[in-house]
Amino acid sequence: MRLTVVGCSGSMPGPHSPASCYLLEAEGFRLVVDLGNGALGGLQRYTALNRVDAVALSHLHADHCLDMCPLWIARKYSDEDPLRSIPVYAPSGAAERIARANDDPDVSGVFDFVTLTPGRHLIGPFAVTAGHVAHPVETFAFRFELGGHSLTYSGDTGESPALVELAASADVLLCEAGFPDLPDLPPDLHLCGRQAGQHAARAGAGRLILTHLAPDCDPEQSLAAAAGAFSGPVSLAAPGQVLDLG
Ligand SMILES: [Zn+2]
Repeated sequence: MRLTVVGCSGSMPGPHSPASCYLLEAEGFRLVVDLGNGALGGLQRYTALNRVDAVALSHLHADHCLDMCPLWIARKYSDEDPLRSIPVYAPSGAAERIARANDDPDVSGVFDFVTLTPGRHLIGPFAVTAGHVAHPVETFAFRFELGGHSLTYSGDTGESPALVELAASADVLLCEAGFPDLPDLPPDLHLCGRQAGQHAARAGAGRLILTHLAPDCDPEQSLAAAAGAFSGPVSLAAPGQVLDLG
């Protein structure tokens, strides 16, 4: 499977990156994971929009889902005949959320919303395990598996035993580090670099990639803090970064 980082800016688009968005490809199947503000532009560098086969949304905060609105426009007015309706795996209430943001109730002919529940799902060729993590709204982390390789994506989360479980022995943990490394961080919101490193270490992940990097945080500081807590390879996500697993 191939991971392309489309956007990795935390909480909002940044000067160098859209908000959260990742493209996961295997066997000709294209799964978009999160579609935050500004991401649809970047996504078109890596795929035609009518080649997207499915979308998975970790949660319904704006910086993870708002570019579903322009994707809806692109799908609705595409010259595809007949127009395919693509599955969107998302927390409960996603259809209403996107319709409200779009100010148009009719998003159903373009997207088939599938309400995510914790557990195993088959999305195209990917075996996906979804689990609730610690964030103020219902939020999922995902473990994607194919051909003996595994990638875990944290979504947005504070400290979370469920994330450690989902990342157990994963080849890669793509983990948010939305907070700067400061004492007394609020719980159940975001992780800092040190906490991301601790989660990777507890999980025994092969490699840690820090993402959801907020524009006003120092990424090098997050990287150093993560490296202090995790002995494996640690790097920062960057838009356009491609990672081939297997
Ligand atoms: Zn969030």
